[in-house]
Amino acid sequence: MDLPVIEPSPAAAAGCSADSCGATARQVDGLSDAIRARVQDHPCYSEDAHHYFARMHVAVAPACNIQCHYCNRKYDCANESRPGVVSELLTPDQAVRKTLAVAAAIPQMSVLGIAGPGDPLANPERTFETFRQLALKAPDIKLCVSTNGLVLPDHVEELARYDIDHVTITINCVDPEIGARIYPWIFWKNRRVYGREAAAILIGQQQKGLEMLSARGILVKVNSVLIPGVNDAHLPEVSKIVKAKGAFLHNVMPLIAEAGHGTFYGVMGQRSPQPAELKALQDACAGDMNMMRHCRQCRADAVGLLGEDRGAEFTLDKIEAMEVDYEAAMVVRAALRAQIAAELAEKRARAHAPAASATPQVIKFQHQVAKPAPAVGRPVLMAVAAKNGLVAVHFGHAREFLVYEASAAGARLVGHRRAASYCAGDETCGDADSVLAGTIRALADCEVVLCSRIGYEPWGQLEAAGIQPNGEYAMQPIEEAVMAVWNEMLAAGRLTVGQPAARRA
Ligand code: SF4
Repeated sequence: MDLPVIEPSPAAAAGCSADSCGATARQVDGLSDAIRARVQDHPCYSEDAHHYFARMHVAVAPACNIQCHYCNRKYDCANESRPGVVSELLTPDQAVRKTLAVAAAIPQMSVLGIAGPGDPLANPERTFETFRQLALKAPDIKLCVSTNGLVLPDHVEELARYDIDHVTITINCVDPEIGARIYPWIFWKNRRVYGREAAAILIGQQQKGLEMLSARGILVKVNSVLIPGVNDAHLPEVSKIVKAKGAFLHNVMPLIAEAGHGTFYGVMGQRSPQPAELKALQDACAGDMNMMRHCRQCRADAVGLLGEDRGAEFTLDKIEAMEVDYEAAMVVRAALRAQIAAELAEKRARAHAPAASATPQVIKFQHQVAKPAPAVGRPVLMAVAAKNGLVAVHFGHAREFLVYEASAAGARLVGHRRAASYCAGDETCGDADSVLAGTIRALADCEVVLCSRIGYEPWGQLEAAGIQPNGEYAMQPIEEAVMAVWNEMLAAGRLTVGQPAARRA
């Protein structure tokens, strides 16, 4: 598979302003060589890279300069994963020590981000001291920052100075009326500003900062929280506007609103979107913009591959006891990076190769694809227990499932689902008996689950829920396995267009 998920904005690709860009970089599969080189080992900016590369966040930024109705930074739970949540707040020195320890222990850790628990740019001394030290001590780590954008224009020069090549701005609206329903207040020029006025200032600063970053060739991703009934109908317009101003990737994330988290929306009963609503909105935006669909809404102290959190291995007391030789670690990291780059290149080449030059494994799948079948079949959602791009996880061990849509056009990632029911902050949190039922609920719109193995009990319960378990493609590449199953269903006459899924018939 190539890296089609990211198509650079002309401004970002050429490192020039949106108005003047001529998009002269060579385009390969919608991705210029220049942009591919910049994102190929970034697990958030490249969908393919997220199977191989890890990220970490360091929680050095406690203060925030705005209040969002979906945020409460006080709540923490070992089973909880969402932005704003941390277990330990770090000083810049501690953050640097932790980063070097993690990078040495997890050589595929390619990206260090500062994402909270407050706003990194509302804590500029702590944030930039961390970046300053890491730029010197760990030049092989990409540095990222995520901000609400309120004071972004004041810090663009400093971000460029530390070679911060990737910036995420959370932009939930471009209309102050809608903003007033999301942000009760901001702290601006030494006073609190409320309501519509606050939202108008925030929106203006976000857009100005976005344009300034784009003009410097810094890659900008925009995050938006999908809040049903508040900004859902508005987000396609947000997508168009941020693209026009130079953002190259849009990440629409579902609102997390549990009453137990103590957020305003949670307490007021504001509902979260269903997976189908999220997918429909992402598809609606995708006509104009490259969409990120593999975001895990990580904690502000997350460590590891997306979808896993190894933070407990790197608590302050543990890293104090670790001896780190970062010079030696960089050699190992460079070798691993080269190995993964070669694997990804081979994967891309295989996807484009004609049948005669395919490997035996691919030929096996192509034989399955070639079975006589109707020319067109309906799309099917399949959940995959995956690791490193393969169907590689036992159903019972899976903490999350990637969800692919298979159709005549191929397999595409459309989202992910947590295996256990999401932590609600109440007495059901961590209850092992509820995990299987919660997983089946989370996968309710999928027709197939692909995993490396599965036990008798969950097999039966999945089938009873109308979800077909499949362990036949263990250790096979995800997209090829998904398409092989889809073609089997097509050949069996189960995918006639207009025919609903069997369990719903
Ligand atoms: S929250 Fe999303 S964009 Fe940020 S590190 Fe996690 S996966 Fe990447």
